[in-house]
Amino acid sequence: MNNKTRVSVVKCKSYNKISLKEAVSRCVSLLGGFEKFLNSKSKIVIKPNLLLAAAPEKAVTTHPLFIEAVIENIIDITGSSKNIIIADSFGPAVPYNRAGMEKVYSTAGILDIVKRTGCRLNYSTEYECLSNKGGRILKKIEVIKPIVEADVIINLPKFKTHNLTVITGAIKNMFGIVPGFTKVGYHLRFDDFEKFSEMLLDIVFSVKPALNIMDGILGIEGDGPGRSGTPREVGLILASDDPISMDIVMSKIMNIDQRLNPFLEVLKKWNIKSYTDNNIEILGERLSDIIIYDFKLPKSIGQKRLTRSNFLNTYILPFIRSSLNPYMYIDYNKCSLCKTCQDICPQNSISYSNNRIKFNHRTCIRCFCCSEMCPEGAIGIKYSFLGNLIFKRLGMAGKLSKKRKAQDAR
Ligand code: SF4
Ligand code: SF4
Repeated sequence: MNNKTRVSVVKCKSYNKISLKEAVSRCVSLLGGFEKFLNSKSKIVIKPNLLLAAAPEKAVTTHPLFIEAVIENIIDITGSSKNIIIADSFGPAVPYNRAGMEKVYSTAGILDIVKRTGCRLNYSTEYECLSNKGGRILKKIEVIKPIVEADVIINLPKFKTHNLTVITGAIKNMFGIVPGFTKVGYHLRFDDFEKFSEMLLDIVFSVKPALNIMDGILGIEGDGPGRSGTPREVGLILASDDPISMDIVMSKIMNIDQRLNPFLEVLKKWNIKSYTDNNIEILGERLSDIIIYDFKLPKSIGQKRLTRSNFLNTYILPFIRSSLNPYMYIDYNKCSLCKTCQDICPQNSISYSNNRIKFNHRTCIRCFCCSEMCPEGAIGIKYSFLGNLIFKRLGMAGKLSKKRKAQDAR
């Protein structure tokens, strides 16, 4: 018996409506087609990435035409949109109430999809607390109501980097089933990137989407997943019934050293052995043809590379660890003083005085929520002089391609 998980990958260069619908259909057909995952009686929830109120061209959110192409493919099978609802709980900067929902839905182009397809849109703020007895570190999960009520969850992540978890794809997108500001509490409880990655895996093992279809047409590289990252044309759609395998393939396309994929590290620690290369079958495109060798990784990658070394961890890092921590900084030319960062910081490490936002680097837990949520992309990440020196000397700070340097300089 073949126990392999499968990830299909097809090329799709643009959000052209007709070719997009066909490309989504082709990608899912490689897994057996939409009919394998749902039928006309299924209650279907579409779970896009609606991190914050950002226009589609910023690449922060799942593109509305991509969501529409998926819904049209589903209607071809079910004959109707009446059992389809779009739902997400946004990043903590957006209040999880009617006003917050309206703002995100209109800015991200979701209202237009609803008009054209007739599907429903979630305006309920209700959630349920689900028991998760099998969870390794998360024994209860607060989950928004539409997810609890659905028979079929279709997860529509974006192809993006993430300062905390290196990548954000199908696994991290499921963090959006946790309601609004409750996410900040999870950041506090799981306050380093390893614990946080464990919590995310507990969520996807407990609430597993039936199908994941990734919008990798326009992705984000660099300091993602919010406005501090840089949109990058990737030109791919990925599909899988397994969110973990999908993210492993995405990270390979990003040319990330697999030892730096925090989810693989957690699976190793949990002694789950089913996610080796031999157990993941890639359908459609050949991996070697689609790796993006100059994909720009988040600045925090340098520190993650260093902490993989047992010798350094045991003998050297305890003495110099604090100088190697990245720290947050503000580009005051971009900052609009909206104070969103101050409102959502789980540690209260951000203050406001003399018309300036300031960080308390001693109490900051490097969750990167402020950078993720800043609507102006004004919060970046830097290393101290010593950190910079070490990471540069060790070649760990990430290399920017000449082409990207030229683009960024423009
Ligand atoms: S840094 Fe960003 S989130 Fe914070 S006040 Fe300035 S614009 Fe708002
Ligand atoms: S300052 Fe930013 S990175 Fe630090 S704890 Fe607050 S939100 Fe997280």
